[in-house]
Amino acid sequence: MILPKQYRCTHSPTCQCTRGHLNKDVLLLVFKHLNWNPKLVATLSCVCKWFDDFAKRVLWKEFCKTRAPRMMLDLQSSGSHCIDGNWRALGKLLIYCTGCTEGGLFNSTVQIPGHFVYRTRFSRTLGRSLLPPQCRTDVLYVSDPCEHLDQGEEGDVGLFRGIFKSFPTSKVRKVIINKAVPFHPSEVCPYCKAKMWSMLQAKIMPQSACARLEAYEDCIEYFVCLNGHLLGICTLAPLSDSEEAVPSEDSNHTEKKQDNCLAKENGLKRRHSLLGGSENGPSPQKRLTSSNQCNID
Ligand SMILES: [Zn+2]
Ligand SMILES: [Zn+2]
Ligand SMILES: [Zn+2]
Repeated sequence: MILPKQYRCTHSPTCQCTRGHLNKDVLLLVFKHLNWNPKLVATLSCVCKWFDDFAKRVLWKEFCKTRAPRMMLDLQSSGSHCIDGNWRALGKLLIYCTGCTEGGLFNSTVQIPGHFVYRTRFSRTLGRSLLPPQCRTDVLYVSDPCEHLDQGEEGDVGLFRGIFKSFPTSKVRKVIINKAVPFHPSEVCPYCKAKMWSMLQAKIMPQSACARLEAYEDCIEYFVCLNGHLLGICTLAPLSDSEEAVPSEDSNHTEKKQDNCLAKENGLKRRHSLLGGSENGPSPQKRLTSSNQCNID
């Protein structure tokens, strides 16, 4: 929604509210009724600085607490306030897979557009498997990989995202600082715009990560930003069970025929196992439902 510019505004050059703002309690009630609809919260933020501040401080917080209550309780427990200024970033992390750009953060050869994800499971157990043994007391929540199958020579790409609890005091951060790992020279966190470190470059990715993500060894990379957001990519290995069928609707379907034999073979193997040898697979919508909820374990 593009709002026309109003003059005589006291809040910001783009403010619409020439006679002051709505009562905060009223806004809160309205958005509660709207179940903290993220697209409407984002739209409200565009009105003016006052609304933007209110959305950042209050509405995104309520959104996060409603969508992922247990995770939010945990992230905020033991007096951790490090997400106080980052509710909007966290809200986006809950519902948005950023995709990847050619030669971007992951230096990939494919372009996968970012997209909303209506249902994501964030797991502390999965997060633990991404931590090096000496940092396993850190708390990290990580999403199941968002599957983008048949990405040409990249094969079946899995994108995952996550968040550290109390990142400023985490062991991972300490290790990264001690090792003087440089920031990525150009890319920043797509959720909060902070600089990012490569866990690969820091050489602190454990073997367990590939196994848990069902990814090929040496085909995994993840970054963590200054605010503790994690962003990762992996090449998915064929599944051992046949719970899944065909690529989800929003996966970027590319038809490169002459590419890397291995990836192609992997893709075929994976698809074969996905279909379980039968023509009638289950619904492609396996992780995408319209419930707009996040599952946490
Ligand atoms: Zn205003
Ligand atoms: Zn995705
Ligand atoms: Zn970030």
